[in-house]
Amino acid sequence: MKRAPWVALGVFLCPAGPAPAQVPSGQAPPAQTPSGTRPTPPAGSAPRPYDHVVIVSFDGLRPDAIDRADAPVLRRVRDQGAWARNAQTVPDSSTLPAHSSMLSGAPVRAHGMSFDDFRAERGFIRVPTIFYRAHDQGLRTAMFVAKTKLRHIALPGSLDVWSLPHYSCERVSAAASAYLRDAGPGVTFIHLEEPDDGGHRYGWMSRRYLGYVARADRCFGVIMATLEARADRARVLVLVSADHGGHGRRHGTHDPLDLHIPWLAWGSRVHRGPFDAPVLTTDTAATAMAALGLTPGPENTGHPVPQALSRRP
Ligand SMILES: [Zn+2]
Repeated sequence: MKRAPWVALGVFLCPAGPAPAQVPSGQAPPAQTPSGTRPTPPAGSAPRPYDHVVIVSFDGLRPDAIDRADAPVLRRVRDQGAWARNAQTVPDSSTLPAHSSMLSGAPVRAHGMSFDDFRAERGFIRVPTIFYRAHDQGLRTAMFVAKTKLRHIALPGSLDVWSLPHYSCERVSAAASAYLRDAGPGVTFIHLEEPDDGGHRYGWMSRRYLGYVARADRCFGVIMATLEARADRARVLVLVSADHGGHGRRHGTHDPLDLHIPWLAWGSRVHRGPFDAPVLTTDTAATAMAALGLTPGPENTGHPVPQALSRRP
């Protein structure tokens, strides 16, 4: 739960990133093909159900906190959207491994991000991400995050915007909202870290943890207001999830309370209401790619969640 000693990277374009151990800067990441070359998906061949996918991850948010906390925005988005009762994160229920799977669709053994802090010498995620695939097809890509370690997911050449404005969700949501007001088609990731912070400090589901959830919900409200003000809001898919839950003052175990995560989809093509089919965090990347008409690579073992995509608007 250590915070980075520096928090003011700000917004910049196409970052050089940490020392690239596995992925040479500006080159394709290694894909899982025998030749080592990256398969090129056919451009524009798939229909595009949405033009924008916004993935909002509430770090350490347990699904049962949505009803227990003062979280009206999360409840409204859930009530207006499709939501999975049985969503799970990766067995290593920690921030960097889980977000790496969420944003690549690959299991931890494939993406290699098995640690949970910022280690410049470890380079980047070893598989293409949703950002890499989208950027490769000319879409806009952006990450707004609150933790330095997520830099490991920011493959060189995969992002138009990398932003680590501050650890507070007020700053993260303000930066993301400014971008989303008129961002072109593409995928945006927003990371709100307050629930995890509250859980480690005061215990998951404690009164003060729920207060941290409420604070993150207000930040989420800023993002939703921006998206709902867009003229093309019917072309926006919002996916809300978490990297892990928690119990006591920790997570990272196989405890179901650590593994169970929220998974909500909000958009014009969702099948409104809860569903019981299991969702894995790798399905987030698969769903985002299907929403944008992108062809996933072999690294992406997730499955698009049909409840997010298939209804005619
Ligand atoms: Zn944590």
